[in-house]
Amino acid sequence: MRGAAVGMLARDLTALFVTHMHSDHTTDYNDVITTRWISNVAPRPLVAYGPVGFKRFTDATLTMLDTDVHYRMSHHADLQHAPQVEVHEISEGLVYDAGGVRVIAAATDHSPVHPTMGFRIEAEGKVVVIAGDTVPCEGLTRLCQGADVYVQTVIRRSLVEKTPMQRFRDVLDYHSDIGQAAQTAAAAGVRVLVLNHPVPAPQPGTEPQWIAEAAAHFSGEVLLATDLLKVQA
Ligand SMILES: [Zn+2]
Ligand SMILES: [Zn+2]
Repeated sequence: MRGAAVGMLARDLTALFVTHMHSDHTTDYNDVITTRWISNVAPRPLVAYGPVGFKRFTDATLTMLDTDVHYRMSHHADLQHAPQVEVHEISEGLVYDAGGVRVIAAATDHSPVHPTMGFRIEAEGKVVVIAGDTVPCEGLTRLCQGADVYVQTVIRRSLVEKTPMQRFRDVLDYHSDIGQAAQTAAAAGVRVLVLNHPVPAPQPGTEPQWIAEAAAHFSGEVLLATDLLKVQA
């Protein structure tokens, strides 16, 4: 939906990259598959990259969609093929190199979730890193080396620590907090740090506090992401 809002339609996606199979990162995967399928006249497989296990996850998603696929193929006389996904299970290194875009993957640390990946995207002489959920680790620092933009999912430790629910406090041990994201950014010499997937959701008016927590460890530009924020690499 966010892609569609900026004109990046599922119909025309060149490739989709998934960092890990946690539900908050994959809930919309089935919708991308369905929208891709019904908005193309001829069969046009969705090309999707993810960690080992992503093929099984995709097969299960397609199984879940089976009822809907049957409905639509029964209804549309010109729709006589099921949705297709070309899955690439990937690990470390150069995983994509086409159309002037290179994507380099590295293992990240979101234990006990295995495997998880971060992506370094290189194009037009610029570098953007999509880290996903991870604590600071060697693979992450390697991906971030000299990046123009580093996008990191973060938690705000001081707030999460105060919650009375242990199950919520559990998230502290497998996410970067704001300070850790900033330290990774500083160590790798990145230019812009983008805090995304903020937990808990920032209360309106508190945004400067999130930025200040990062700025204590990192002298570059820090942005707290909102939906459809555009960042110039
Ligand atoms: Zn996760
Ligand atoms: Zn997450």
